[in-house]
Order: sequence, then C-alpha cells, then structure tokens
Amino acid sequence: MPVSLTTRRGELALPQFVPDATRAVVRGVPAASLPAHGVELVLVSTVHLASQPGTSVVKALGGVHSFMDWAGPVVSDSGGFQVFSLLSGQKGLASVSDSGLSYRFSPKQRFRELTPRSCVETQLRLGADIIYCLDYCTHPQAPAGEQERSVALTIKWAAQCRAAYDQLLADVAPDQRPKLFAVVQGGQDRALRSRCAQALVELGFDGYGFGGYPIVDGTLVDEVALVADLLPADSLLHGLGIGTPDNLVAAWRAGYTIFDCTLPTRNGRRGVLYAGLDLDADRPHRTVRIGDERWVRETRPVDPACDCQLCTRYSAGYLAHLFRVEDTLGLSLASLHNLRFYTRLTEALRKRSAP
Ligand SMILES: [Zn+2]
Repeated sequence: MPVSLTTRRGELALPQFVPDATRAVVRGVPAASLPAHGVELVLVSTVHLASQPGTSVVKALGGVHSFMDWAGPVVSDSGGFQVFSLLSGQKGLASVSDSGLSYRFSPKQRFRELTPRSCVETQLRLGADIIYCLDYCTHPQAPAGEQERSVALTIKWAAQCRAAYDQLLADVAPDQRPKLFAVVQGGQDRALRSRCAQALVELGFDGYGFGGYPIVDGTLVDEVALVADLLPADSLLHGLGIGTPDNLVAAWRAGYTIFDCTLPTRNGRRGVLYAGLDLDADRPHRTVRIGDERWVRETRPVDPACDCQLCTRYSAGYLAHLFRVEDTLGLSLASLHNLRFYTRLTEALRKRSAP
C-alpha cells in the first residue's frame, strides 16, 4: 500500500479524504478554510463544470485553482458516474455509443458529447492535477450483456484516453503533467472486474478508481477488495464515493488510500455531525443530531476532542441555535466539522501500519 502521493503541486501523505467540490465549491465552505481542517486535495466534477460555467470560463478565470481559490491539488472525475446517473433517471437525458457518452442535465439543454479525447481535453483545460479516463458506469443489477459492454468500452476508452494524454502532454515535463487514473468497472461479476483490471494495468496508469457501486445495503461489496487484490500491491487506489467512516476504514484495510464522498458536507448541512473518533471501537464514531432538544443548553463543543473552527470557538448550544434560526453559518461550521472528522480519521489511519 503506497504511503504518499506525489502530484505536481506537492506530496501528500496517504490515506487522504477528498471533499467533493463538485461545482468548484465545497458547498458552503470557503476553500481558504479547508487546509486548517486537514483537507489537502479536492474533487471537482468535469461534466458539471463543463456545463456551468463552461471550461472556457474556468480557463479565462485562471483555471480551477484560481477560480475557487485553492492552491492544493485538484482531482477531476471523468463524468462517467454523473452521466450514468442521468442514464438511469429521466429518459432522454443521456445515451452511450461506442465512441462515448452524450448527455444533458435537462430536456431544455442541448446534448454535450463526452468522448475519450474530449474527456481528457476538458480536464486538462480545467487544470486538474489528477484526471480520470472516461468510463462506462453500470448498475450492479444491470444485465450481463450491459456489464460486458461497459467493461469493453471502459478498456477501449482508457486506451484512447491514454493515447490522447500522451499526445497532448508530449511537450510537458513528466513531473509537471497531471496524474492519469483509470476506473475499474465490471459490476458484481468477478471475471469482468478481473478482465478490466488486467487490461488497465497493461495500459499503465498512475492510479485506479473502483467504479460502479462500492456499497450495497450499507456495506462494501466484495468486489472492492477483489479489485485491490487484482492490481499491483503498490497501486494508488481511489475508493470513488466511499463512504461512511466504517466503510472508509474497511476499504483502507482492503488497500485503498484515496476516498471522496459528499456525506460529511451533506450530513453537516442536515445538522448530522460525527463525533467521538475511535478506531478501536465497533463503530469509529457516534452521531450528533444538533436539532435534538438536548443540545440547546450544551455549553461544551460538539466534540471536545475536535480542533475544527466549530469545536474550538463555539458551544454545541450555539450551533443548535444557528440551525434553529436557519443561519447559513451553521451549515458552514457543521460541514467544516464533519470534514475535519474525516481528515482526523485518515490522519489516524496514517499512524497505523497498513494491514
Ligand atoms: Zn469539530
């Protein structure tokens, strides 16, 4: 299991929790507040930024780092998962062909094409430091034929992304290029996961993401560990969309060292906070629901062991008040607290030797 990740913006200790800054913002949180809360890497959505404000606007505003006031490395995803979400939702928003994905976020919009080459070009234009090959995401219950096609296209598109990346960055020094990651698809079919992983390793990537659904009914699917076993032991493995603290720890035990999830900020905005970090307990946390009556007169912080902006400056009672008066400061502080819980979790895992 690798212990560090070197990007063109510096070296990061692993494991890392990566907040989702889907639209170039960790919702409700200024990027300048993130480093003090242990965040060193953020993830943006290629298709969302291509749609709004458009990559040419992001580029005109200095690239994604300048745009969102973030000096650290940025991961951009391929867009495969978002297009899959559109495919499985309202009809007429997305389609798949052998040459790529076609999507729009509403019936009023025109279709945008995402080909392997345009996927790489878009991420390079954004200026991300870790970029992803285009992949074809499926539902775990999708028919076998669709899973086969997903793996065949994911491998074919990864080869095309690899070639486009090599060509477009031929004049850029290797240590100044973004990292290129690929996604291992295959649903719950072990043979397909194996085929996909082996083909991607032969093509050679800087890292690999677990594609599809890593969690079913609240627990990690067996394929998460399988994919880690199929890849070389020193591979950088990204558990895309993982997850709850329990599932993050389980995926780390399987060999994953990069995680991203909307859960900490989404829960923060709902007034659901993580506290009581304890890696030796059955569950690594307890849950604080700040809307509960018991917090109204609480003079202590939400988590006395936490060093976030919320816990070092305010009582739990004050946060309960902010939620009751629906002030956005409460959403921001709760999100920062939960992000800090996750980065304290990954910092604690760094101190433990990998299993
Ligand atoms: Zn805190």
